[in-house]
Amino acid sequence: MKPDKLLTTGIPSRQQIESATPPESRRKQGAFVVIECFQEIPCDPCYHSCRFGAIKPFGSLNDIPQVDWDKCTGCGVCVAACPGLAIFVVDETLSDTQCLIAMPYEFLPLPQKGDPVYLLDRSGNKLGQGVAYRVVPGKKPQGTPVVWVSAPKQLSMEVRNLLPMGEAHELDQAAGAQESGQVAVDDKTQPDHHVPSGKIPADATPTGEPLAEKGGMNCVSC
Ligand code: SF4
Ligand code: SF4
Repeated sequence: MKPDKLLTTGIPSRQQIESATPPESRRKQGAFVVIECFQEIPCDPCYHSCRFGAIKPFGSLNDIPQVDWDKCTGCGVCVAACPGLAIFVVDETLSDTQCLIAMPYEFLPLPQKGDPVYLLDRSGNKLGQGVAYRVVPGKKPQGTPVVWVSAPKQLSMEVRNLLPMGEAHELDQAAGAQESGQVAVDDKTQPDHHVPSGKIPADATPTGEPLAEKGGMNCVSC
């Protein structure tokens, strides 16, 4: 029997993603939640976080969350509440060409509003460029920060992570230095997401252009 792709890679199948996507008619009405949680695990903070009743009551703690998209306002509260980082909000009504995607983001430093970011798919591959549109710091003690990015609309159901361009520049520099033998590999030279990076002009805008480069981004899930 073919192994379950989700179990071997952590990446849901196309069929699973489609099951978490509302119908086209709902997508045109505004922001909607996408819950990419497909395993039966004992967990339900998403249900308790939604005060609009858009996440249906669980029959058992192990149930897979079910959504009533007619009740979802796209507020994003459940994105911050999910310990599995499995929830996103998508708004395809930002403009004719751009959408918004809210994503959980647990790296420091947080991007700032207006920062340009690389848009990554579920495997960490670069899909294009966007801009941090809104940054909601996590509420202590356990709320996850949520970063809303603007992105080309055709990528609304593909972009599921981001990499601030300042961070990418630092990582490229560190990797280049190691490859050229200019630096030793030790704690001081390893790329570190938790060290402040250089700033990027805040007035940068998304290009909407797909990137020619499509490389693995192993560093985004330390
Ligand atoms: S985005 Fe807001 S309204 Fe929609 S399911 Fe999440 S918490 Fe509920
Ligand atoms: S909180 Fe997240 S991981 Fe837990 S059941 Fe809900 S969607 Fe799944």
